[in-house]
Amino acid sequence: MKHTIGMVATLVTLLVGVTQDAISQVNIREVLITEETVTSMSTEYLQQVYQGVNQQIEIPDNPWKDAWIMKAWIVFNELERRAGNVAAAAEEPVTTVVGESFILQYELPDETLAPYANLLMESGVMEEVVTDLENTFQLPQPILIRFTSGKPGPLYYQGVINMTYEFLLSNHEIIAATGYAETEDELVLTLLNLVEFVLYHEVGHALVDMLDLPVLGKEEDAVDGFAAVVASAFDLDVVALTAADIFNLNTSIQVSNEISPAAFWDSHSLDQQRMYSIICMIYGSDPNGYSSLLNDVGMPSEKESECVYSFQETSRNWIRLIADYIKQ
Ligand SMILES: [Zn+2]
Repeated sequence: MKHTIGMVATLVTLLVGVTQDAISQVNIREVLITEETVTSMSTEYLQQVYQGVNQQIEIPDNPWKDAWIMKAWIVFNELERRAGNVAAAAEEPVTTVVGESFILQYELPDETLAPYANLLMESGVMEEVVTDLENTFQLPQPILIRFTSGKPGPLYYQGVINMTYEFLLSNHEIIAATGYAETEDELVLTLLNLVEFVLYHEVGHALVDMLDLPVLGKEEDAVDGFAAVVASAFDLDVVALTAADIFNLNTSIQVSNEISPAAFWDSHSLDQQRMYSIICMIYGSDPNGYSSLLNDVGMPSEKESECVYSFQETSRNWIRLIADYIKQ
C-alpha cells in the first residue's frame, strides 16, 4: 500500500461528508457511501486499520480485523479510482456491493472456474441477495462475502464467508450427471438457488459468531433452519426446496447405500436428514400452499403438525435472538 496518512484524512472526510439515502444498493462503481456506512466508532477503527497498514504497525485487535482490512482496502481502492490515481488491474477482485453490513466480492479464478465467476456476475443474482440481506440486517461489523477458489469453502471464518467456485463446479457436475435439470437454463437456476441457500446458511454461522448467539444442539442444523426461515421470509421457498433436492441427489449418487461412520459424527446431519428438515420447514411455513409436499417425499401426515410447530418455533427463536439487528 503506497498511500499516505493524508489519504486517511481525505478518506475520513469523504466518508463523513457524503449524503444519506444511497445505502440501499450501493454499487461501488457508482459509489455513494453514506455516513451510515461508517459509524463514528467504525470510522475510528477504519482509520486505525489504515494507519496500521501504512506504517506497518500492528492494527489493534478486533475479532473481525480481516473483514475490516478488506473493507478498508475496498473503500480505499474505490476512492483512488475515483481520484483517477489507479487503473484497475485485471486480477483485482471485483466488488459489486458495499453495504454497512455486507460486502460482496468476486476474486477472479483461473480459466477452468472462470465460467462460474462469469455466470454469477452476469446473473446479478448474488447482488440481489446481498442487497436483500443488507436491507434486512444491521450488523455491528461488516461480513465480507467472497467468491473465491483454491480455499476451503463454503465456509464462514472471522467475518469472512468464503463461497468457492469449486463448490459450483462440483454441484454443476452432480446436477448434470443426475439429469435433475431438463434444460441448461434450469441447470443454471438450480445452481444459483443452491448457492443462495448455502449463502444464507453461512450468514447464519456468521450471526452466531458475531452476535455470540446461544446455540443449543447442532449449529449446522440451526443454521439450516435459519436459511429456510430467511428463504421463506424473502418469498424464495424455491431456494430452500432446491437445496433439499440437491441434498437428496447427493445421497442418490453415492455408490453404495452404506453410510460411513464419519457421517454419524460429522458436524452436519446426513444429507437426507437435511433434505427432510428443509422440506418440513417449508411445508410448515405454509401448510395450505404445500398440502401435498410431505406426501410427495414420502413423509407421513403425522408430521404435518410437527412441521408447522418446527417452522414457527425456529423462526420465532431466530427473530427473538437477532431482533436488535433486524432493520425495521
Ligand atoms: Zn455450516
